[in-house]
Amino acid sequence: MPDIAHSIRARLLAWYDLNARTLPWRIAPGAGDRPDAYRVWLSEVMLQQTTVPHATPYFLEFLRRWPSVTALAAAEDGEVMAAWAGLGYYARARNLLACARAVKAQHDGVFPDTESGLLALPGVGAYTAAAVAAIAFDRAANVVDGNVERVMARLYAVEAPTPAAKPELKALAGALVQEDRPGDWAQALMDLGAVICRPRAPLCDRCPLSQSCTAFAAGAAETYPRKTKKADRPHRHGAAFLLLRGDRVALIRRPPKGLLGGMLALPSTEWRADPFSRAEVELAAPIQATWRSCGEIEHVFTHFSLALQVWRAETDEEIDGIFWAGRSRLDGLPSVFLKAARAGLDRLV
Ligand code: SF4
Repeated sequence: MPDIAHSIRARLLAWYDLNARTLPWRIAPGAGDRPDAYRVWLSEVMLQQTTVPHATPYFLEFLRRWPSVTALAAAEDGEVMAAWAGLGYYARARNLLACARAVKAQHDGVFPDTESGLLALPGVGAYTAAAVAAIAFDRAANVVDGNVERVMARLYAVEAPTPAAKPELKALAGALVQEDRPGDWAQALMDLGAVICRPRAPLCDRCPLSQSCTAFAAGAAETYPRKTKKADRPHRHGAAFLLLRGDRVALIRRPPKGLLGGMLALPSTEWRADPFSRAEVELAAPIQATWRSCGEIEHVFTHFSLALQVWRAETDEEIDGIFWAGRSRLDGLPSVFLKAARAGLDRLV
């Protein structure tokens, strides 16, 4: 390993020893122990789609309800889906369960301790396998997420735009991985990217790597990673139905595949490019009734944004395929439907 790489490693690990973030799934550097693989895995899956402050209460609640991977494996799908609501992207929650069940059934409830063993688990991708191998088992795995890519792009002033630059950024990160303290190294890079080498306004004057950083030397830290122009996020339209029977609300379970698959939800139309007319809404409604408009809510998903009309009606009929839920159950709905239910309960246009 060249001297410059040695120097980068030594400075970043020394910085980490003093500045490591305190996180509920983490064991502090120098504590002489490794964190539990279940905690590391759970936190990494959650953090792939949200921030530490947002993920932390979910993480603690999951641990309280399912303190081990075998406990999670035995959980009911619907309960895990409801506990996941608010973290978005429910395919991850389904994969989480599939993985927990595979660890229980195929590995006696003990996570494999190698990157390749972890990668063979359902729903575990290259990033999660590397992160768990490094952090929980101190394997010399190359853990590369968006934070690490950003640090590499700046440190070496990589001119290729993302995503084309990804293999180059991964190779640059890999050249810094060593058998010595690989778990701490992975977390040190994550912390540097999260706290110092931030996407906007990086704190270069507090960075332990500034003397080796090409982008900083050029006074251009924030211009890296270079970006290709993104296509605009597509916009879709739909309608959701708030049907009340007394103080109960009609919910359905969405089909297992697709967006929000398997989740409880308000009945709704498909989501498409054109807005729905009133006649189309009435045709798509779960029953014929006097449907009244409660306006529209906006929701942004990862790959598109949605304008969702909200319609409300009352009934005293029983309807096939409908669950009648108390209002307290609404808090467990995916955010988009919780927003729609609130709009339906609060306002009539
Ligand atoms: Fe990032 Fe600035 Fe540190 Fe370079 S000097 S790694 S740009 S924080």
